[in-house]
Amino acid sequence: MKNEPLLEVESLHKHFSVPKQRIWERERYVKAVDGVSFEIYRGETFGLVGESGCGKSTMGLMIGGLISPSKGKIYFERNIITGSGKNFSNKIRRNMQIVFQDPYASLNPKKKIGWTLEEPLVIYREGNKQERQKKVYEMMELVGLEESIANRYPHELSGGQRQRIAIARALMLNPQFIIGDEPVSALDVSIQAQILNLMKRLQSKLNLTYLFISHDLNVIHYMSDRVGVMYLGEIVEKAHVEKIYERAYHPYTKSLFSAIPSIEPNTNSERIILKGDAPNPVCPPTGCRFHPRCPYAMDVCSKNSPQNIEVEKGHFVRCHLYNK
Ligand code: SF4
Repeated sequence: MKNEPLLEVESLHKHFSVPKQRIWERERYVKAVDGVSFEIYRGETFGLVGESGCGKSTMGLMIGGLISPSKGKIYFERNIITGSGKNFSNKIRRNMQIVFQDPYASLNPKKKIGWTLEEPLVIYREGNKQERQKKVYEMMELVGLEESIANRYPHELSGGQRQRIAIARALMLNPQFIIGDEPVSALDVSIQAQILNLMKRLQSKLNLTYLFISHDLNVIHYMSDRVGVMYLGEIVEKAHVEKIYERAYHPYTKSLFSAIPSIEPNTNSERIILKGDAPNPVCPPTGCRFHPRCPYAMDVCSKNSPQNIEVEKGHFVRCHLYNK
């Protein structure tokens, strides 16, 4: 089941132009995503993790066709879909849906929930009124909501109920692939667990494939089969979730993991404190982008960009420490 990639991303770039302060200034760009490649297999969850501003949400928007990449390619079921133009056909759009962080912002406040859920079916001319309503109620039951909620407005619901509606709406057209962009970050911890469990249940019931984007390492661990760690627009480490949580290789990944609090009394893992703030993505550091903050930096690190090295089967790291 997991041997065939549903989605492939090949050397994807997104550079946003920075407005000029003065007419004679050179054009400058924020390099939000800079040469990212990965693949997501059918039925799996690929987790993208990294600190705020690392480019993970931009990745989600490009894959979901909401913004166009500056360079690189995206394939869905082996067909190229790069860009939001004619390549991003209605068929792909209905097969790929996004659940955003803030459910309140992603629901129309002036429309009742029943209307919001029915809308995708109306746009795609699916069934008659009766059939569409039946599907709305079925989907509400699937996400654990009572039918009566169809007559309410978004402001009458709790955060958890609104996120269930956002998930139900994403599923109305029976997509294969869901992008979750921080889908539980705006919720209370107890509600987070309910939504994560719901997403897992729906995945196995409907054979969904997920790209799950989060800054929270515990959430990524719980949800993902494989993980990509992003730093300043690049994936610096990629592996199966258990491998990377058991043994991280990249110094940035190690520092992220060292910051997870542990309740085990005998845990003696040392906290790695990074120097300074993340650099400006308009002019990222030369060589390895992490070198100004890396406790293991060597001379070569500021000069040459590290290659992607397979340190164990399926475990890739971009770091000069592992050059063979
Ligand atoms: Fe640190 Fe050098 Fe590895 Fe970059 S390449 S993470 S600076 S050791």
